[in-house]
Amino acid sequence: MNTENHIESGAPLDFIRAIVADDLKSGKHRQVVTRFPPEPNGFLHIGHAKSICLNFGIAGENDSVCHLRFDDTNPSKESTEYVEAIQRDVRWLGFDWGEHLYYASDYFDRLHDYAVQLIRMGKAYVCHLNADQIREQRGTLTEPGQNSPFRERSVEENLELFARMRAGELPEGSCVLRAKIDMASPNIIMRDPVLYRIIHTSHHRTGDKWCIYPMYDFTHCLSDMIEGITHSLCTLEFKNNRALYDWVLDTLNTPCHPRQIEFARLNINYTVMSKRKLLQMVNEGQVSGWDDPRMLTISGLRRRGYTPASIRAFCDTIGIGRKESWIDMGVLENAVREDLNETAPRVLGVLRPLKVVITNYPEDLVEEFEGQNHPKKPEMGARTLPFCREVYIEADDFLEEPPKKFFRLAPGREVRLRYAYLITCREVIKNEKGEVVELRCTYDPASRGGTAPDGRKVKGTIHWVSARHAVAAEIRLYDRLFTVEHPDTDKERDFKEFLNPNSLEILCGCMLEPSLAGATVEDRFQFERQGYFCLDARDSALEKPVFNRIVTLRDTWARIAEE
Ligand code: ATP
Ligand code: MG
Repeated sequence: MNTENHIESGAPLDFIRAIVADDLKSGKHRQVVTRFPPEPNGFLHIGHAKSICLNFGIAGENDSVCHLRFDDTNPSKESTEYVEAIQRDVRWLGFDWGEHLYYASDYFDRLHDYAVQLIRMGKAYVCHLNADQIREQRGTLTEPGQNSPFRERSVEENLELFARMRAGELPEGSCVLRAKIDMASPNIIMRDPVLYRIIHTSHHRTGDKWCIYPMYDFTHCLSDMIEGITHSLCTLEFKNNRALYDWVLDTLNTPCHPRQIEFARLNINYTVMSKRKLLQMVNEGQVSGWDDPRMLTISGLRRRGYTPASIRAFCDTIGIGRKESWIDMGVLENAVREDLNETAPRVLGVLRPLKVVITNYPEDLVEEFEGQNHPKKPEMGARTLPFCREVYIEADDFLEEPPKKFFRLAPGREVRLRYAYLITCREVIKNEKGEVVELRCTYDPASRGGTAPDGRKVKGTIHWVSARHAVAAEIRLYDRLFTVEHPDTDKERDFKEFLNPNSLEILCGCMLEPSLAGATVEDRFQFERQGYFCLDARDSALEKPVFNRIVTLRDTWARIAEE
């Protein structure tokens, strides 16, 4: 869909798309070029998906390109593992950067030359204050900063010192290169910001070639400029950095000057979004890895069973705004629910099995019933469900003393086994602890398919699986990772204090209909009455399938909130 189609479809343009459309219309740009600039210091999360959908979306709508650029300027935190994971995740989301894969580290030589140029212009200097001193002398919102004692040294001296920084002659932390702007600027970012620091660490791409690394604010604008980016979209916390972005490009009088535009980052409740915190949970073992199905990383959502389409639809729903806001976790869950409601075949699976013996059903008989794969989509076909004398039903579909509105199985009660027969509970078998372990029922042979021949009303319909044919599986049920809406906004308490101890429930010995023996990792199913499920890509094995519950059929948290 290009921007004009966007208008025709009636959807109003967000403010960034409106700017892009104006710039194309006015002829300011003949083509737009955007970029997605992750730092390879962790896996991508759902917040990044918002930025990916925006940047690649705008490019796609305008027959244009979006670059994937790794912002790899801090070798102490970055790695090739992350570079690869990020590419995999962007591709999986459905986006393609074509030949436009770049690394800020590709520009280290040019960035260095630009820094030298600033020194020659008298616009940058080597400063020996340490990080604390720089902070102390920076001033506050109400007070100007103080000039560094090294601010007025000569161009020659600066060139020599910078060369020594580069040559590895100076230890880490001994000095930095700073821009010479204005220590009294009302914008604190403009008070002689650091452009380069010394880090004696091997870089995952440039090895030991460099021991000075450029800061984000110096790297980003120049990388955008080098690549001919037209619209550099970033989140609101960079609003004050825009002045520096523009200062660097203006001062160096570069041939092109991209426009930085800020939008509101995605915040979702009941989770944490920062890579630093996600990494902490991975390292401390609170989750099983970056792809733990409870994590809102792209790889976690993927393993959980989310579809790329559902994540893109979610990003579309939340839109692009200029003000910070919180999105309810239920909105994300609903996006995958709506997608799978259309596309996932229905199957029968029993999570907590209770055995039912149908005493008047012949020992050796096996009948087959046909189950529709989708109630509203006959084109999705049907599969056969074998039926025999012993079946499993869901343990909580039976109650010995049913309350008023319970229409499922109880002593003497008749229910419908979905697609199969009406059965009546005749006898309840218990173990020595008094727990119900088996039911003896009879079936009405005349009710084949589930309708009574005499038209008698049977209210309850329950799902079941033939004991002889069932596929045994492990099922993992997930809940939100945190018990409170904003786990990381309390300054006094660590976000991990709010971890939900019940966020993972593992059920063993679940019984699934035999068609699920052929499931692949890409398949997603609706287990009737239980939610949407998929095979776990990491732990599932042929002899022992493991299914993840992607999402429940209804928003149970919304109900809790109402109560
Ligand atoms: P985090 O704060 O989670 O560590 P980051 O901003 O440091 O994320 P980057 O790798 O620098 O991570 O982000 C790459 C791009 O994704 C940036 O343009 C950034 O603005 C954008 N981005 C990161 N988090 C969000 C978010 N929650 N919502 C929207 N965009 C985001
Ligand atoms: Mg960042």
